[in-house]
Amino acid sequence: MRLTHLSVRRFRNLGVQDLEIPPEGLALVGENAQGKSNFLEAIYYLETFRSFRGARDEQLIGFDHDVFRIVGSLTSPDEAAASVEVAAAFQKKGRRKKVTIDGHEPERLSDGLGRLAAVVFSPADVSIINEGPAERRRFLDIVLSLNAPGYLRSLQAFRRTLQQRNAALKDGRPSAVVHVWDDALVRSGAAVMEARADWIESMSSSFTGYYSEVSGGQIAGFAYRPNVSLDPDAGAGDWSEAYRVALEASAERERRMGTTVVGPHRDDATVSLATDRPLEVRDFGSGGQRRTAALALRLVEAETIRTARGQEPIVLMDDVFAELDDGRSERILDLIEREETGQVILTAPKDSDVKVRRGTLPRWGIRSGVIET
Ligand code: ATP
Ligand code: MG
Repeated sequence: MRLTHLSVRRFRNLGVQDLEIPPEGLALVGENAQGKSNFLEAIYYLETFRSFRGARDEQLIGFDHDVFRIVGSLTSPDEAAASVEVAAAFQKKGRRKKVTIDGHEPERLSDGLGRLAAVVFSPADVSIINEGPAERRRFLDIVLSLNAPGYLRSLQAFRRTLQQRNAALKDGRPSAVVHVWDDALVRSGAAVMEARADWIESMSSSFTGYYSEVSGGQIAGFAYRPNVSLDPDAGAGDWSEAYRVALEASAERERRMGTTVVGPHRDDATVSLATDRPLEVRDFGSGGQRRTAALALRLVEAETIRTARGQEPIVLMDDVFAELDDGRSERILDLIEREETGQVILTAPKDSDVKVRRGTLPRWGIRSGVIET
């Protein structure tokens, strides 16, 4: 899709603005703390109805205001007729969030997800590499919810069931009460694990390719580290069987701990600096290697949007060249020019940092939240 028009009302420091977005995209240049990331945050809000920076909705409302609203118009470059309007608003009072697609409120918020087909690159992406497993599960969950049909539904069912099962364990309820949840837990949990395993397996060579290209020939691998393992010898040839076997084996431990100790809520995925040794970037990587690994994950996400949704993603890049050496920056540019043929909206603090599309992207400025086109 292409974003053709964006209206913002009291989102962060962006005030009231109505913008025509150029078809090829734009480069937003401005000093620190002027609102560049806020602008991308507003656009990406229309994709997931959340802040990509992990901020709470309340924090997104302009200071001293009670409600923000964002409206984006999208057209598909293939079918001139196809266009859609995505709107989102949040009101502090009553914590009310309202999303509409072409003026209609979807039955569930999740039905409105992913209309932009956007991917956002941000310096904060290194947290996927640096932080604990929960951060990587979050990455997997977002990418798969947006791109793998049925994933979000399985994930939500799993979380609900897990919560109920854990409540029973915590209260020390009889075993029969705990185990009523097992079938539902296994069904939804296995679907989640299978989707994670399939996606990572299908994308790991792309990840290695992107990492190698940006780093100038270095090796890195991306692998699933499920909490429950498939072991055909132990009668666990599929994820459901594997999960059932693992649950049975952990019955005593979960009683003692008062919580479900095995399952996809304990999964991890690793990014390593070798494909044959457990040299995790998280433990051994340099700053640049971490940034490169995070960037390669986002490039994989963009590729997933292309293959799963058959759309050229809208690429949002927040100050991506910060902290990368010239070689890496150049190679990223080449890659973006070659692979990302959709709209590119990027931000940079200095004009000289804007080199994408051979410097032909329209330049916009921003000062105190006011965009100058
Ligand atoms: P940098 O180059 O440092 O990343 P930036 O241009 O990306 O800067 P943003 O993060 O987009 O900066 O914007 C930061 C500004 O937005 C800060 O001045 C901050 O005070 C302001 N801001 C953040 N949240 C709100 C809000 N809810 N209401 C009004 N202003 C806000
Ligand atoms: Mg910023």
